[in-house]
Amino acid sequence: MTDYGCRALAAVDRIANPWGARTPHAAGADWPVRVDEHTEREPERWVQSACVLCSNGCALDIGVAGGRIVGVRGREVDRVNHGRLGPKGLYGWQANNSPDRLTRPLVRRDGNLEETDWDTAMAAVVERARKLLDEKGSSAFGFYISGQLFLEDYYTLAVLARGGIGTNHLDGNTRLCTATAAASLKESFGCDGQPASFADVDHCDTLLHVGINIAETQTVTWSRMLDRLHGADRPRLVVIDPRSTPAAREADVHLAVRNGTNVAVLNALLRELIANGWVDQKWVDAHTVGFDALAKTVDGYTPEHAAEICGTAPDDIRAAAEILGTGERLLSVVLQGVYQSNQATAAACQVNNLNLLRGMIGKPGCGVLQMNGQPTAQNTRETGCNGDLPGFRNWQNPRHVAELAELWNVDPLAIPHYGPPTHAMQIFRYAEQGSISFLWIVATNPAVSLPELDRIRSILGQERLFLVVSDAFMTETAEFADVVFPAAIWGEKTGTFTNADRTVHLSEQAVEPPGEARPDREILLDFADGLGLQDRDGAPLLKWRTPEEVFEAWKQCSRGRPCDYTGITYEKLRGGSGIQWGGERLYEDAVFPTLPEECEDYGHELTTGVTLSAAEFKALDPAGRAILKSAPYVLPAEAPREDYPFLLNTGRSVYHFHTRTKTGRAPELVEAAPEVWVELSADEAGRLGLAEGDIAAVESPRGRIEAPVRITAIREGVVFVPFHYGYWDRDGGNDKDRAANELTITVWDPVSKQPIYKTAAVRVGPA
Ligand code: SF4
Repeated sequence: MTDYGCRALAAVDRIANPWGARTPHAAGADWPVRVDEHTEREPERWVQSACVLCSNGCALDIGVAGGRIVGVRGREVDRVNHGRLGPKGLYGWQANNSPDRLTRPLVRRDGNLEETDWDTAMAAVVERARKLLDEKGSSAFGFYISGQLFLEDYYTLAVLARGGIGTNHLDGNTRLCTATAAASLKESFGCDGQPASFADVDHCDTLLHVGINIAETQTVTWSRMLDRLHGADRPRLVVIDPRSTPAAREADVHLAVRNGTNVAVLNALLRELIANGWVDQKWVDAHTVGFDALAKTVDGYTPEHAAEICGTAPDDIRAAAEILGTGERLLSVVLQGVYQSNQATAAACQVNNLNLLRGMIGKPGCGVLQMNGQPTAQNTRETGCNGDLPGFRNWQNPRHVAELAELWNVDPLAIPHYGPPTHAMQIFRYAEQGSISFLWIVATNPAVSLPELDRIRSILGQERLFLVVSDAFMTETAEFADVVFPAAIWGEKTGTFTNADRTVHLSEQAVEPPGEARPDREILLDFADGLGLQDRDGAPLLKWRTPEEVFEAWKQCSRGRPCDYTGITYEKLRGGSGIQWGGERLYEDAVFPTLPEECEDYGHELTTGVTLSAAEFKALDPAGRAILKSAPYVLPAEAPREDYPFLLNTGRSVYHFHTRTKTGRAPELVEAAPEVWVELSADEAGRLGLAEGDIAAVESPRGRIEAPVRITAIREGVVFVPFHYGYWDRDGGNDKDRAANELTITVWDPVSKQPIYKTAAVRVGPA
């Protein structure tokens, strides 16, 4: 079982109780402050920062003594967490002090990575890049980066890659975690940007969770929800999830749908709203387009029909619809169970539609949180490192491209906009096919996190690919590199980042990086200098050095766009709470950025992913209204069959983040969740002859792993494996594969291009 009782509950023990003691509050009341702190010794000083171990972005102070980080303390003044920290935040900082940090650059010689000095390593990278630019041109370059850098790193890379080298092949691992959030916001509202705010938890009377295990992914915001659920004016809670998550166990209605059927169940909920007159028709008529098409699409999704597809009870769908249709303040929350599943963008848009039909957006307690997976994913999207042009600009809009060209003082044609920016899965395809010959991977670990790992390893290991990796640790990916740069991380550099509800925090440098490690911003600036990247007048393209100078340059890029940072300064971010761009919640005036000249995207046909043209978008004529986009349910790319009868669901543990490069180096988190596992229902485990703790083999057509069994209340036909576990910390005696992505399949959503991790077919049996 998922067991949080593995230790006795102590005053601040977020291992035994990840959410801490309840501090209940009623609707509209302030969420009480509770300051969480964990230090290994008394700090000499505290340095302002925020946590980078999930997209919540909880504000904290870093405790420093003897030039080392010795602990953290939640910031009570901050709007996001009111002092609280979860297990990853309280213990994860210990990774900074890990003895296996990379401290010197490495270059591959005679097949081995050997330590060298910075000049030698950078010269090797610049020399290869220069040669490739001359021989193959800018499209030979790919950059695959992280959702864990700072805004200042991202914007530096966006200008370098898009305006300097001129490649379209720049994307983040945020493609795996948050691309669908961005895509659905663009489809429904014309532009990225989180409509709601975490403070809406304090005001709502109805909560809808769709494919989000928020109790484990964003523990502090779940604490906020729990405090409402256990306080006066308890909101009603509907959870759609195949697993019996902590939130599902608190729910009024839990729809344990079969993986991959989100569109079917959401269409049925939309149909029930319409059939029962639970639509705010006046608001819908005034502020949306597409109602008739939506009503027609969902008409056939009776509760009985949807229940048959989803494997749930029709009356449960009716009960859920009644809750959603009769509340007055609906807050809907979405994450990977939608984004990484069949029809990702189509399903995320149907959640937006639920709120739009109810007219519940832009008001206290009303809205949608299309959550992000990673701490700084919002900044990859804003700065143009995740499949869009910087400042939420539209690659199809010549005026938007011209604005960037003017800002960077380059020719508009130097900024690739012949097609949408290349998404990560396509970048790896191009590397596989050989058109990308130079791939720079920054602070991410695709050798564990991308689908179908055997294929990814074969791509990374190609002789013809020049692979550069910047990281703090020797990851499974860095093992393949030709050059490895040691990177400074959180706490060792200054910068800003933006969380899932648009709150911008400043994270000050607290300690020196270990050895010769350097901030990514500086590494990229050196690379740009080495290549001699210039603007139209022969001046250096990148005109900044310090983090604050980059931030000021970014502010000019964001000016006038929906993500306008011009009112924020480093000084304003010091001392108090983080600051949201766009204010507490977007769309308070019910005016959406859907004018053709301002929107970030003209949208797509949701089932096929066909890109709409400017003319098609204009014909839709949303003109400031939201767009109700609809889609029928379609079957997943891979369905269970006789030889592979289970659906594989991958996801996260409350104690780890991504591939554990940080959390796997924090003793409390390692002890709490040291090893991969596979979750099975009691009935199915029994049928397979497996008991709790037995080692099971899980196989798909692409790979095989072994993992101990956990018996849980997961729905029948579905097995769950956390994706955190790779190979860097395997003990020497165990040579069995354990990474969940050995099993997953190379398919992606047609609109967001987010890989589909949750519908692979597998078989399970004793190892
Ligand atoms: S909820 Fe997220 S941001 Fe907050 S402390 Fe936990 S890991 Fe860090």
